[in-house]
Amino acid sequence: MSLTNKLFSLLGFAKPITLKRYNGHNNLPANVLVLNTATQSNEALNQLLTKLKFNVIINNDDLIVKSIESLVIDATSYQGEDSYQTLYKTVHENLKYLSTNARIVLIAKASQPSLSTEENTFSQALVGFSKSLAKEVGRKGSTVNIIFTSTKQINENQKALVAPLRFLLSAKSAFVSGQVVSINNNKNDLTVNKDKQKTAIVTGAAQGIGAAIAEKLSNDGYLVIGVDIEPMKALLTTTMANLSGEAFTLDVSDSSAGEQLIQLGKKLHGFDLIVHNAGITRDKTLGKMPEQWWQQTLNINLLSVMRINKSLLSQNSINSGGRIVCLSSMNGIAGQGGQTNYACSKAGIIGYVASMSRELLTKNITINAVAPGFIETKMTKKMPFAPREMGRRMNALGQGGLPIDVAETVAFFATDDCYAISGQTVRVCGLNMIGA
Ligand code: NAD
Repeated sequence: MSLTNKLFSLLGFAKPITLKRYNGHNNLPANVLVLNTATQSNEALNQLLTKLKFNVIINNDDLIVKSIESLVIDATSYQGEDSYQTLYKTVHENLKYLSTNARIVLIAKASQPSLSTEENTFSQALVGFSKSLAKEVGRKGSTVNIIFTSTKQINENQKALVAPLRFLLSAKSAFVSGQVVSINNNKNDLTVNKDKQKTAIVTGAAQGIGAAIAEKLSNDGYLVIGVDIEPMKALLTTTMANLSGEAFTLDVSDSSAGEQLIQLGKKLHGFDLIVHNAGITRDKTLGKMPEQWWQQTLNINLLSVMRINKSLLSQNSINSGGRIVCLSSMNGIAGQGGQTNYACSKAGIIGYVASMSRELLTKNITINAVAPGFIETKMTKKMPFAPREMGRRMNALGQGGLPIDVAETVAFFATDDCYAISGQTVRVCGLNMIGA
């Protein structure tokens, strides 16, 4: 055991479990049990999950011989105060069958003015329940997440549920826990041209998270154009050559960046996916921060994202059915001393995607953000010892995430099935103990 591990073990941090990540074969959990918080049938959900090739446990006697790798809890119907009791009872009784690296997904209705106060209260109560349960089961590598949807979507219009169920029940979401994903766009008429190879731009693709995203998208069949700055050209070229992608040297904060990408898009019949991953940190407390550091960080992390999208959208360079995914950060959600510039830019991204999603609805384009917590990259290696070690361990899963965890979440937003989710930010942080 290393000295650091010994020290953290003395401080009461348990040795983290090895997370089961997607290896090309192990995506779907073997056994899924569906529960609900009302006296209703699970038939529709059982059928949907079976159709998606999950092995659904229908007969509870099977539990004696099988362990549960996933629990799906239908909490869309609130039937009075008894629903709280049923929630406790059904989950409590089945937790003992849960395997390590298990997935728990609650399907619930989002609070909204059309619901009664009792129903809205129940929705919010479920968020507290799921985050707390996530913190309890995290030490076994298990995750808990919520999909906000409607009863109608479970019974009649199930298409929108497919992408979030597939992702949140799979090994691809190993570092995503305590999150809420809302289905907020019921349009499912997105026409996607399946004959043409899709093109994706990934900024900041030479290394770290950007390189992992580029590799993941290439494996998913995209032609990837990796963008990075001139000093990174050699590394970018090697990274892109390894995945049969193309390297494009560009400073995203350059005033001509949008125009340069428009010209590139014309040669490629438009882009199907833009991943705004390029980002920098220039850390100092605000009183000591040079204006240039402030400006540069805002410019690269936020303002260039907005400018580039505006340019591309004005020239229809993003195809119908397209996707935009931006990189935010946990520090934009929780705040971080010494990072007013960075947190300002990353919180801005969250507001930006929420607002832009409404505008993009008419163009059949979705926009979402991924907010990584502590991810093992060069950026986090540069952190001072104490905040780095604490940052790595202070989450429900007790460890840092990997670039592939962020890449899998970007790829989730990019799938054709994920047409009904827009304007959202999903944290890939193992459910950080600090922050929202
Ligand atoms: P990294 O520093 O390893 O890589 C960032 C890449 O962006 C580099 O290749 C860099 O050259 C490129 N880049 C910087 N400025 C650019 C510009 N003006 N134009 C084009 N490219 C530019 O960082 P990373 O850890 O891989 O982070 C990737 C993204 O994830 C960033 O947006 C970062 O803020 C975000 N993020 C990372 C973490 C983490 O734990 N590593 C946590 C939260 C958020």
